[in-house]
Amino acid sequence: MNCKKIKRFLTPYLDNELKEPDITAAVEKHLETCKSCSNELKALKSIKDLVHKKEKIKADKILLPSIIDKINEDEQIKIEKREKLLRLLRNELIPSLATAAAVILVVISINLLKMDSISSIDELILSEMSVNEVNELFGNTELEKLLSGD
Ligand SMILES: [Zn+2]
Repeated sequence: MNCKKIKRFLTPYLDNELKEPDITAAVEKHLETCKSCSNELKALKSIKDLVHKKEKIKADKILLPSIIDKINEDEQIKIEKREKLLRLLRNELIPSLATAAAVILVVISINLLKMDSISSIDELILSEMSVNEVNELFGNTELEKLLSGD
């Protein structure tokens, strides 16, 4: 094989893509004696290494920080969600729970006062109804949840 033919096989040879052993052997035999082709192979190898190195650098220097950024971003979103939830708990839920607790105390007090006079099931139902009435009055869903045991 002449140099022109060999040079066509150099890239597949470098990438181990030459399927035919005869061609591989011919290329190797030619490279042993031909300076021009072995120089071209060296050049191709350098380019290949450079591309690989560049990819590695890309992975290390560009991809990795972006992955870290993404992780931090996700972490930040998690923190924000948690803070939002905590804020919600602090500003909305806890005061409403406090309200609910206060309402329950009032309801229990009313019922305790009523206890003495409860003499029938009807009266007991009536006293239970007052819980719902108070609940309706305050429009407090948290109280509802607490009373239903959810
Ligand atoms: Zn040659």
